[in-house]
Amino acid sequence: MSAPAKNPPIAPAAPLSAEERLSLVGLDRAGLTAALAAVGVPEKSLRMRVSQLWNWLYVRGVDDFGAMTNIARDLRGELEARYAVRRPQIVAEQVSGDGTRKWLLRFPGAGPMARPVEVETVYIPDDNRGTLCVSSQIGCTLTCSFCHTGTQALVRNLTAGEIVAQILVARDRLGDWPDRAPPDGTIVPRAGGRFVSNIVVMGMGEPLYNFDAVKPALLIAADGEGLGLSKRRITLSTSGVVPMIERAGAEIGVMLAISLHAVRDDLRNELVPLNKRYPIAALLDACRRYPGLSNAKRITFEYVMLNGVNDTAADARELVRLIAGIPAKINLIPFNPWPGSSYECSDWEQIERFAEIINRAGYASPIRSPRGRDILAACGQLKSESERLRARERLALQAMIGSED
Ligand code: SAH
Ligand code: SF4
Repeated sequence: MSAPAKNPPIAPAAPLSAEERLSLVGLDRAGLTAALAAVGVPEKSLRMRVSQLWNWLYVRGVDDFGAMTNIARDLRGELEARYAVRRPQIVAEQVSGDGTRKWLLRFPGAGPMARPVEVETVYIPDDNRGTLCVSSQIGCTLTCSFCHTGTQALVRNLTAGEIVAQILVARDRLGDWPDRAPPDGTIVPRAGGRFVSNIVVMGMGEPLYNFDAVKPALLIAADGEGLGLSKRRITLSTSGVVPMIERAGAEIGVMLAISLHAVRDDLRNELVPLNKRYPIAALLDACRRYPGLSNAKRITFEYVMLNGVNDTAADARELVRLIAGIPAKINLIPFNPWPGSSYECSDWEQIERFAEIINRAGYASPIRSPRGRDILAACGQLKSESERLRARERLALQAMIGSED
């Protein structure tokens, strides 16, 4: 009998490339616990390690395991080899004359076949607050006729980590972490406090079509031991995905904004085609049942002002009648035009008349002042600039290929 063959020597596992390492950003405590257990952290110290990591990620905002000084060097090395706390690449940062900032971020994508994707995030400083508008999807499956994002097919949902990373990048760039200062020239709220004090999920995409990622991301943003934004300062805007509204209230519990935009089904079917599936009456019923609804926690109805389409005094009166009994405020959004759009913004006097009718009925009716229009950062304009950027890139590429021929 011949001697058993010797086992071949085990080759050391190849180190994971930067793209292969799982990002810890966006994992909740259970996810971090599993990630730490997987690198051999003993059961009895898991809780402590999770809370240390949580603090480094979301209170101190570090983007490097090396900076986590209360974690033993060996463990830091293990974490570094398997995981990442990296930020997406900032492809472009634009600053508007009014202090609004827009970042074009590139995420490497998940899985071996995934292509990198780009997403836009906007920061809007005001006197007493700084609002970050985050995206939940790349593109959108819905095709609202006045929205530029609606002309762009859905590329994919963002992950929870990619949604949270938008907040972290904004705070990096604004110097909004303990012991860091804003870069020269940054316009931040005058009232002091956090530069990113409010979050609105009003960027690209329909957040209730990506509930499984939006939920953990917003719960991380609201976590009192981490990013610590109050749920009253986080607003989720939906075009009206009725079956998910109650769950959003019960499981996330942030403020709700509804993109209403019309008071008759025939017109809303045109503006917000999702209305064909969930008409106005069903949508308002879901609003009436929104968990936690009260005078202190009102629903915001967003209403884009389109000249000659939805902006008459009769429309305003019908709006008041429809929302009777719902603690609400109405946010009037002057339409932001984009290349190829067929609508015009209502006249200022018309918007004020509309606001006045709603206001006299006892509802706050602020007119949203368009911000960052010069950098195409206003509502419904997102993605246009990055498409142009890509067009430029394409031209450069064509020129290059041409010169090689
Ligand atoms: N998909 C979600 C959230 C993103 S859109 C939703 O529809 O609610 C955020 C807000 O911007 C919505 O109220 C949307 O109707 C509005 N909006 C879209 N395009 C606009 C435009 N061109 N001008 C003004 N507001 C616009
Ligand atoms: Fe999508 Fe909202 Fe734009 Fe409609 S308004 S297309 S739901 S992003």
